Amino acid sequence: MPYPNEFASGESLPGLTTSRSVLEFQGAIHVKDANEQHDLPDCVNPDRSHDRITRVVAIDGSIVPTSVRNGYPGAEAALMLIAAVVLDLKAIKNPAPKWIPRPSEIRQLEDCDTIDAVLPGCNVSERERPGDSPSRFFRRTIYQTLKGSVEKDHESLLDTLTAITTNRPPQKIACPVEDCDERIIPPIGDAICPCFRKETIYQTDVLGIHERFNESGANGQVYTLAQQVTEQLTLVNILRYCEQADNPEFIRDTAFIMDGPLAVFGSAAWLHTWIQQEVKRIHCKYADKGYPGVLLIGVEKTGNFVEHLNRLDWSERDGPRQALNNGIALAPTMEYINRHIVHRPPNSNDFGRQTYYGRKILYKNRNGQHSVITTPIINESGVDKNCIDIDAFPRLGEILDIMDELSTYLYEDGFAPLVRAHAHAAIPLKSGAEILRRLFSKS
Ligand SMILES: [Zn+2]
Repeated sequence: MPYPNEFASGESLPGLTTSRSVLEFQGAIHVKDANEQHDLPDCVNPDRSHDRITRVVAIDGSIVPTSVRNGYPGAEAALMLIAAVVLDLKAIKNPAPKWIPRPSEIRQLEDCDTIDAVLPGCNVSERERPGDSPSRFFRRTIYQTLKGSVEKDHESLLDTLTAITTNRPPQKIACPVEDCDERIIPPIGDAICPCFRKETIYQTDVLGIHERFNESGANGQVYTLAQQVTEQLTLVNILRYCEQADNPEFIRDTAFIMDGPLAVFGSAAWLHTWIQQEVKRIHCKYADKGYPGVLLIGVEKTGNFVEHLNRLDWSERDGPRQALNNGIALAPTMEYINRHIVHRPPNSNDFGRQTYYGRKILYKNRNGQHSVITTPIINESGVDKNCIDIDAFPRLGEILDIMDELSTYLYEDGFAPLVRAHAHAAIPLKSGAEILRRLFSKS
């Protein structure tokens, strides 16, 4: 390990490339044939131009770590912001033809609501609690953050978690105290471990976000997991609000967009099963009544799937973004993904089984921009990862239209800058904002 401020110098590099171990390693690894010609994933061609979507609810978070001056080395905390941004598409579409809105103009059309919390990191504890530890402070903060609600008089994120996991068989978790061997069923709310420390166990401990809490260093991964779980619960919370408001037209006319895939990773990955069930339940409830169901997408602008799409669109003769036609939507099967994107033996389980509640589409939009989108799994076609029937991807035609229409918003500006732009107007979760109610009163 280098000393602080000691960086690898150029001199060490030739040594590395001639090292015998490195040469042996390079000789031993499987190398994908760069010239390998293989078929593209199959195209999907859903009906387009439904033109029904009038608003977008985009959920997006950001984490800003910062150092804390409390006399302890490396003390840090992170500001977590989760925003639900509501975008009125009618207002964007209606001005003069060919008007391309600038992000600054789009911002004025939006409502935005945020959840914010300061997540403590290493070497930070609460003054009012003698004997407190940073990891306990962190666990308590996660619990209190999720106890807040996005909408006044609506359930909290913790209530959402309780509601969607009621049918999960109880799973014991370890008491977080190092020298306690008790395993306890996580409570609804909080409870005291019978151990000699009388440790408080929080309902949110079941998410395991604290498990990788680093007491002596940076906690970037832990913050990211907290952000992701909060974003996912916010989505479900808002969907449940729309359902309880009993306004099927609102759900029909709204696109829900998540920044990132429809998946939950790390110690909270088990949650993906329950989110999938809840999204499916709400989708089917409206589909059974003759409505089109929930339009939900996860959008990725970076990552291995996006990189793979870039490669497919590379033309030897003409360069990048010249091989595929604009407007093409490709649906990779499980076999294709295992073979070309997430390197796995051909007969292995499907990629994302433990984490994803959606299916991937690689899309080159009308303007030639690349994105990878996930649509929720709401039926048997979606469950079968080798099935690429159109009904495996609910409301795909409208989704692709949205991806064409929102390209300025989604690609050039991205989500996170929007959240930052709104940070000055952020409404803390605990005060209970009324954005959704205001929205219904407008529609
Ligand atoms: Zn204990």
